[in-house]
Formats: sequence, structure tokens, C-alpha cells
Amino acid sequence: MKLLIIEDNQALRELLNDKLAANGYTIDAADSCTEARAFIQHVKYDLIVLDLGLPDGNGIDLLRTIRNQKKYTNPCIILSARDALQSKIDGLDAGADDYLIKPFEFAELHARIRALLRRPQAMNDDFIVVENVYLHRNKRALNMMVNT
Ligand code: CA
Repeated sequence: MKLLIIEDNQALRELLNDKLAANGYTIDAADSCTEARAFIQHVKYDLIVLDLGLPDGNGIDLLRTIRNQKKYTNPCIILSARDALQSKIDGLDAGADDYLIKPFEFAELHARIRALLRRPQAMNDDFIVVENVYLHRNKRALNMMVNT
């Protein structure tokens, strides 16, 4: 499993890198939106851990952009000191799957990562397909596929 950590606090970034790597994940770590975009352009990640306050922008804007451009469709967990209800709502609406408030326990973050990675892959794609019926997650439309 390949994870991208986007976190500008060097101590936290290195801690997450070391602990997640020790748990068997392959890790890339970015300290800015620009660096994160460059990674996402070239690598397909299974999960992203995203900080919100980054030196060159807001993690919510970054997430909204990569979701809208379909550059990243797998799970994303926001890690933020921003504990306001509106910030959580904005993060989830921008495409996050979970939101954990700093300070946090690594064991809880790891449990949430495991939970998201347990999802069947189809849950992370735009379409859920069951036999010849598919559901478009965003449009919430149920369609029949015609086999020709
Ligand atoms: Ca930060």
C-alpha cells in the first residue's frame, strides 16, 4: 500500500513517515501543495494523509482540485488542528473521507487508515457496478449498462 503524507511540520511529517513505514506502508511525504501535486501527477496512491495549513495554500483547496480533476479518487484523511465544525464540513465536502483533529494518537490514525483501506476498491471509484447495473456516486444515478 502506497501512502502520501502532506504535512509541512517537519517533526510530524517524519514521525508519520517512520511509524507508517514501520507498519509496512510505502510512504512519500510532501511539505507543500506544490510538492504534493507533483507526486500525485506521477504516482497512484492508495490513501492520502492531508494537513490543511500548508505554506503555499490550503489543503481543502488542494483536495477539491485533485478530486474535481479526477487526479486522485482513493481515500483521504485530513489531519488538522482546526477543530471547528465548519472546517470539518468543508473538508468532508471537498472530498475527504475522514477528519482527525490534532493532537491525535498514532494508534487511532492507523486504525482509521486501516478502516479506509478495507473498503472495497469499487467504493473508491466513481461507479459502483453490480452485474449490469451501475451507480454513479456523484450523480446518484442508477443506470443500466447495455451489453452489445
Ligand atoms: Ca500545517
